[in-house]
Amino acid sequence: MKVVYRKEQTSLGNESFSPSAGKPALFVDLIKSKPGIEIFSDWEPVSREDLYLVHDQAHVDAILECRKSNGFGNTLKSVADSLIYTNGSFYNAAKIALKEGIAVSPTSGFHHASYNQVMGFCTFNGLMVTAVLLKRAKLIDEIGIIDFDEHWGNGTMDIIRRLDIDYVKHMAFSDQIGSDYDVWLQGLYASLEDNFQNSTLLLYQAGADPHIDDPLGGELTTEQMRLRDRNVFRFAHDNKIPIAWNLAGGYQKPIEKVLELHFNTVEECLGAFLIEN
Ligand SMILES: [Zn+2]
Repeated sequence: MKVVYRKEQTSLGNESFSPSAGKPALFVDLIKSKPGIEIFSDWEPVSREDLYLVHDQAHVDAILECRKSNGFGNTLKSVADSLIYTNGSFYNAAKIALKEGIAVSPTSGFHHASYNQVMGFCTFNGLMVTAVLLKRAKLIDEIGIIDFDEHWGNGTMDIIRRLDIDYVKHMAFSDQIGSDYDVWLQGLYASLEDNFQNSTLLLYQAGADPHIDDPLGGELTTEQMRLRDRNVFRFAHDNKIPIAWNLAGGYQKPIEKVLELHFNTVEECLGAFLIEN
């Protein structure tokens, strides 16, 4: 499985409650020597014009030029410079998944980013940048976004509605909050079949923040998180629907607890796709 990573997508020195700007490098360090994993760095970032496809042009320019706060609430150049790479990582992971069935992008910080606003550690919406670029390239028909981060993808929905996009199907974990999670997990595979049978590609946000110990979560045990991932990856594999996934949220301290949950997602993915690991 390719991990779509260039060091430019990690930005250091970003003091924030969210560790996500520095997380790509830590995640890659953790998994790079694992059997079945290949770090893939031969790809290009998205362009400013690509970001204009789903965001207001003046908004994009102001953030990239450090005149307007990013999703972390600062104007650090290192964060601004990383954004074309985080979005590019996800877009390239999606393109690789279309060829190889599976790919992972060690990125976070997409789904709260709306057409002209940043929010909650999210600056630009790599999910929607990817969907629109792939559609323009005629590489997809319908695309499914499975957003199993703790929080609702308000930015994703804002862009879908504002641009009147009809080829993206969106499923959110946050619609399940308060449910009996064992019952939810038992029905998850069938629910994925109902919703995504016609998708050309799945984009999966495997957020670590629904975890029961997460300060912004509090829902799923470690085993339930594994079952969540197993259902998604098995559905994709069984139905031969390519899937690109990313890390999304996770706020436990120390960060090793978050990385361990992401590592579990890697294991579930490799297992479902029958990759030796
Ligand atoms: Zn979240």
